[in-house]
Amino acid sequence: MVTDVATELMGVDATTAHATYVSVLRDLVNSFELDIAFLRHTDFEASTTVLTAEWPPRPDVADPDPLSVVAFAGAEPVFASTENLDDIRVIQAGDGIEEYRTLVESASGFVAETMAAVPLIDDGTTVGVLGFGNLSGREWTEDEFNALRAIAALMTQVHARVAAENRFRHAASHDELTGLFNRRALLQHLHARLDDPSSGPVAVLSLDLDQLKTMNDFLGHLAGDEYIVAIADVLRAEIESDAFIARLGGDEFVLVLRGPANAYTADLAAHAVLQAIWRLQMPGIDRHRRSRIGIAVAHPGQISAEAALRRADQAALIAKANGGRNIAQFTQAVQHQSELRSDVEVHLRSAIESDALVLHFQPELDLTTGRITAFEALVRWQHPIRGLLPPSAFIPVAEATNLAGEMGAWVLDRACRTLAEWQAAIPGLDLSMRVNVSPAQLVAPDFVRNVGAVLTRYRIAAASLCLEITEVAVVKDLERTRRTLLGLRRAGVHVAIDDFGTGYSSLSHLKELPVDALKIDRAFVTNLGTADHDDLAIIESIVGLATSFGLDVIAEGVETREAVDILLARGCTRAQGYLISRPVPAEDALELLRDVTIDI
Ligand code: C2E
Ligand code: MG
Ligand code: MG
Repeated sequence: MVTDVATELMGVDATTAHATYVSVLRDLVNSFELDIAFLRHTDFEASTTVLTAEWPPRPDVADPDPLSVVAFAGAEPVFASTENLDDIRVIQAGDGIEEYRTLVESASGFVAETMAAVPLIDDGTTVGVLGFGNLSGREWTEDEFNALRAIAALMTQVHARVAAENRFRHAASHDELTGLFNRRALLQHLHARLDDPSSGPVAVLSLDLDQLKTMNDFLGHLAGDEYIVAIADVLRAEIESDAFIARLGGDEFVLVLRGPANAYTADLAAHAVLQAIWRLQMPGIDRHRRSRIGIAVAHPGQISAEAALRRADQAALIAKANGGRNIAQFTQAVQHQSELRSDVEVHLRSAIESDALVLHFQPELDLTTGRITAFEALVRWQHPIRGLLPPSAFIPVAEATNLAGEMGAWVLDRACRTLAEWQAAIPGLDLSMRVNVSPAQLVAPDFVRNVGAVLTRYRIAAASLCLEITEVAVVKDLERTRRTLLGLRRAGVHVAIDDFGTGYSSLSHLKELPVDALKIDRAFVTNLGTADHDDLAIIESIVGLATSFGLDVIAEGVETREAVDILLARGCTRAQGYLISRPVPAEDALELLRDVTIDI
């Protein structure tokens, strides 16, 4: 008998273990003339004993099955005694085991008169128990006990092997840090769903978090890991029953909704997830942080798992670049934008090198005199196929791909060279050149030196250069920004905060930062004179702020005569906008300069 069992158990692996256990139990029932046999294993983490296999199958199993998982703590004496059983124990009816009999009876209907419990002992630890029972009682011989001990030893070995295999399998399909599924498991799951024509549309949600890099940079990787684990817990609590959850590494999480989904249900799920993440509070997490979810609804048979995943990513990425809603569905427009984005990624560097970028210049006027006080250099890309691209089409990509530094250096060089050419053409020209600067440039260690080098190259006075930085850039890395700005101030270069009023926290930092001017974001200016009184209030407060800090203030986006009147009445005397002039090529800008003033 023992050799038979040994042979049967030899080739067992995790996938065949259960069937083999059942078959062994059946053979034991037959050859030992038993009525029931079962195998239980201990779950050490949960401190429970779990029914692994039994023979014969019970006809009417209660739901939930009271024999399936039994906690040792609080268990009646028979189950409790199996936790640390170290040798065979025979149990007879009448041994004070009424509780046990009632439990078993409630679970299946048949109750043994005699039971033999044989422990599975691995390296001194009881890892499970084999149980055998007879409905009408039975005597056991020592030989039989020895055989059962041998069989229990074999089963213990198999169990250890299967457990190791399961651990290995788990590691191969799960993320170590969070215990969520990994990329491999995700693709497998998606493949299965998308290959099955009877499965409805599959919603893939790609989650994009803002915070991880900051956490890692400022609080260390341990804090970053804690953040990731906390997010994983939030996702589990919020949506595990409805979604397959995977972490692909870093802060990339992907959810696949389990049921058939459409854009609407996916949007609802995404909304719930974002809400839950937003509620997460941890030391070091920014209250204003933003997370985004890109959604792709994929139809089985029409798209591969990889492509569905890519679409969800693209939707998230485009949502981020556009800075609009936090949830974005994959659409044709997203596809188009993504293609443009990859095209930009591939060709921008060569565009910079081959002078395919061009600068247009937009004048800034003193509204009281009509005199041009400055020009702002605005970059465009003369794309061979797509035509003249606005900065919004490629600057976000440049910033995301580390090309912002190179592009910015090119812009600064050309803007200064153009100013030098104008100064040569019009002697005594008193004019500032305004140049926009990307956040990445601002924190580069040699930025101030590079600016100085360009000024020297074209013999331009530092005070005729004004660099424009956005509020968002300032907020991103306040300390480094402050150092750079101090360097610029020492060099005599002017600095303006661009798009002022759209960020939220730099107001409080304003007094710490050495800046010279504020440019009121065009969102508050363009509609002046129409209904919106909030705009007016914001403009008044920005002008008031600038005055009290001794800063220049310039209105962007002036499109109407009414706006000019309102600005003048509020004490803002400098403006830029389509009413005065659109951004124009350098030659046209020079023509405007020769006229000295613009009449609006
Ligand atoms: P910005 O620095 O705030 O530039 C002003 C933008 O407003 C320009 O758009 C300009 O064409 C537009 N504009 C000017 N007057 C009006 C008006 O009356 N009405 C309306 N609706 N718009 C007006 P543009 O050229 O598309 O530039 C967009 C943004 O791209 C700029 O905003 C700036 O943040 C960025 N940018 C442009 N060139 C560069 C550059 O060389 N480097 C960097 N880092 N960013 C740049
Ligand atoms: Mg600007
Ligand atoms: Mg602006």
